[in-house]
Amino acid sequence: MDIRYDIENNVMQIDDVDIHPHSLDTNFIGVCNNCNSDVSSISYHTYEEGMVVAGKCSLCDTIVAIMYDNEWNWQGEETISQFFDIKSSNNLKNLNSIDRKKLATVFTPAETDAMYAKARGEKYVRQYLYRARKKYADFEELFGIHINI
Ligand SMILES: [Zn+2]
Repeated sequence: MDIRYDIENNVMQIDDVDIHPHSLDTNFIGVCNNCNSDVSSISYHTYEEGMVVAGKCSLCDTIVAIMYDNEWNWQGEETISQFFDIKSSNNLKNLNSIDRKKLATVFTPAETDAMYAKARGEKYVRQYLYRARKKYADFEELFGIHINI
């Protein structure tokens, strides 16, 4: 199971599926495997036939995903070591869903590269991204697709 977590927005990603929380309740949910301090919940997610709870250690900040079935029986636990930013990840999905030919109609290759780099959270040439941003309205007018990167 490949689990990633967005701490800012409390979104869990399991095997590339984004799972938004249905609750952000803070409850004591266990003891940290790393340092034995209290682990409290930071978000609750419905997953398959049960629940996944993200928990954070009060001392060492380790973040874990704890799996339960629909009757709250403990099913397993994993330390989360991969983190992501849902906003960037959505930007990238949106970009990938746009036909490259459409992008090429409006944006230069350098501008497209800058948009992709920004969406991936990589370094980008600001000047090109600014130029691209000035064309977002034109792009939307032509293709009815809103870009916000
Ligand atoms: Zn700890």
